[in-house]
Amino acid sequence: MGVFAKLAKGTIAPEPGHPGLEPLQLANSDGSLYMRTETNLPARCIDGRRPTTPYAQVVPCAPGGSLSLLVALAAARGITDPLWGADELSNRLTWYGSEGHIHAGPDDRSSGCGALDGLSTIIDYANEQEPLLREVAAELGLPVQVTYPLASLKGQQIDTPGIYRMFDEKPDTKLTPLRGVHQEIAIIVNHEKGTTIDQNVLDQIGNIDVFDVDAWSLEVAADWLVDNYNVDRKRVASALSAFTVATLAILARPTMKVLLHG
Ligand SMILES: [Zn+2]
Repeated sequence: MGVFAKLAKGTIAPEPGHPGLEPLQLANSDGSLYMRTETNLPARCIDGRRPTTPYAQVVPCAPGGSLSLLVALAAARGITDPLWGADELSNRLTWYGSEGHIHAGPDDRSSGCGALDGLSTIIDYANEQEPLLREVAAELGLPVQVTYPLASLKGQQIDTPGIYRMFDEKPDTKLTPLRGVHQEIAIIVNHEKGTTIDQNVLDQIGNIDVFDVDAWSLEVAADWLVDNYNVDRKRVASALSAFTVATLAILARPTMKVLLHG
């Protein structure tokens, strides 16, 4: 992926010639890597690490899980409170039947989610690199719009420990601890509606993880935010794209493999 390599500045990438890459590419192209989701709204992080206890539901993935919806909402609507409307969003998700969900890292002292812990860095980077970000979004087949309204979040403080605590403490939200260290060997951008990556297939291939972006679910998220908050669809779709691309760029090294599906 040419343009993504120009934007990426993280540290996660496989060793050259990693033995998992070839079987992964095969499983991606023959479709065996994928399974059906039980819901359509993104509710899990793209983080490839495994949960300490199995996930209750198979759901699509976007950076930070419910955090993607929160960022898009704040970008399109404005900041409503120090938690950017997280409480209101989680109530709305619960009412809808999809509980708000983020994850914790193994150390339990911070969220351990790169998207949440690095939120300010990701937003700054998205604003600095807006033209390149738009090119990468086009390369990955994400919604590309006229503007990227993460500009409205520039310099805005967010209480990330507060967001973490809220998801941890509210009875209807969920915080899943993940175990292990990052060993993602690829970014998968999945456009096949109603599907996500089957992590069991990754276990069968070997000791590998991938970053899983279920791109189709970003469109579902945009529609859901429009229906529930009456925000502009172009603005939320574009914010979801921008946040996804910038998060991947902050996490992955330029040599990271990027695979598209569907
Ligand atoms: Zn995460």
